[in-house]
Amino acid sequence: MPFLASSHLSAFVRFLKKPAAIYSLFALLVASNVLTGVALLMAPEISTLFTAAPDRSYMAYEERMLALRMEVDRLHSRQYRQAGDLNLQMQELAQQQQFLAEQHSFVRILAEKAEELGLQIDLGDGQTTAAIEPASLGDSAGTSSNANSIEAFQSSLDQMVDESRLALAAIGEAADKSTGDIVSGLRAIGIRPDFSGIQSDAMGGPFEPPQMDDQTSTSLAENANSVMVSLEKFQIARSTLRELPVYFPLRSRHTISSGFGNRRDPFTGTTAFHSGVDFPAPLGTSVRAAGGGKVTFAGTMNGYGNMIEIENGGIKTRYGHLSAIGVEVGQIISAGDIIGKVGSTGRSTGPHLHFEVRVNDTPKNPVPYLSISRSLGEYLAG
Ligand SMILES: [Zn+2]
Repeated sequence: MPFLASSHLSAFVRFLKKPAAIYSLFALLVASNVLTGVALLMAPEISTLFTAAPDRSYMAYEERMLALRMEVDRLHSRQYRQAGDLNLQMQELAQQQQFLAEQHSFVRILAEKAEELGLQIDLGDGQTTAAIEPASLGDSAGTSSNANSIEAFQSSLDQMVDESRLALAAIGEAADKSTGDIVSGLRAIGIRPDFSGIQSDAMGGPFEPPQMDDQTSTSLAENANSVMVSLEKFQIARSTLRELPVYFPLRSRHTISSGFGNRRDPFTGTTAFHSGVDFPAPLGTSVRAAGGGKVTFAGTMNGYGNMIEIENGGIKTRYGHLSAIGVEVGQIISAGDIIGKVGSTGRSTGPHLHFEVRVNDTPKNPVPYLSISRSLGEYLAG
């Protein structure tokens, strides 16, 4: 089942991709301020930067931001020469608008990355930036009415800045919560995702503050960078999970006829150690890889009959008593690939799959691994 992001997020991302409200706000100022035009022209391309490899995208993004700032400076000085006495209020609005454009880009990039990672973002009680109606600057009727509309415009901008900030926070919270779910789920099998490669210093991230020397814009970039760190952590946690043999090796659920550990041996009647779990299934049922990796054994092994072993990062899975083997040693397998068929070869009293998980060549109970596919299923799909 493909993973669907919440309708909140989809609606929000749709809004960001077609931000009519923001663009119409911008359009009002285009005539009086060319800065806006530049921000608008460059913003739509930013989202595409992050579809490439992250490192390259960060660099491209930084370059883009640098180019934007240089262009802003250039236009700024030209504007002073041409217009002479530029309306101070309009200048402030333009600055705030630049801030909003920047924030909007940050949110869009991060929201798209979150959506790509299948994260569900809760944006609160149905409040999205789409609800805001842009204020009109009106015709140049009189000074007082202009002042009023500038004030209204200012408050629209303020509100949009606030809502963007909330969206940013919601993305960060969703990522942190999901990472927490995975980390605590993996604790059951003694595995901890390795976050050591992440640069946790938020100011070292890809988002740079706009050149305004103001505390707000610096903290905006800090926030965006810390949200990016949260998303990277989630990405690592999720791929750690996905590399583990946690997928059920038979498509339909089957009861366990014999569990892991000491049991009465069906052949000798004495107590013996059972190194895996047995799933009875009809002869010829497809057997799937519980995790990806390299095939390290495919043939007959004493007791196991026809057996396949797959290894990934020190964790091995074994599939025994097969009636058919569909892979070769050295082959790279993805989780869920069909690798063979259920049989009754070797020490077997009837058709069943013997499934085994080995960590550093010591058999481990496979049940906690397979349980993870239920408890953390939302992070395995899609
Ligand atoms: Zn068995």
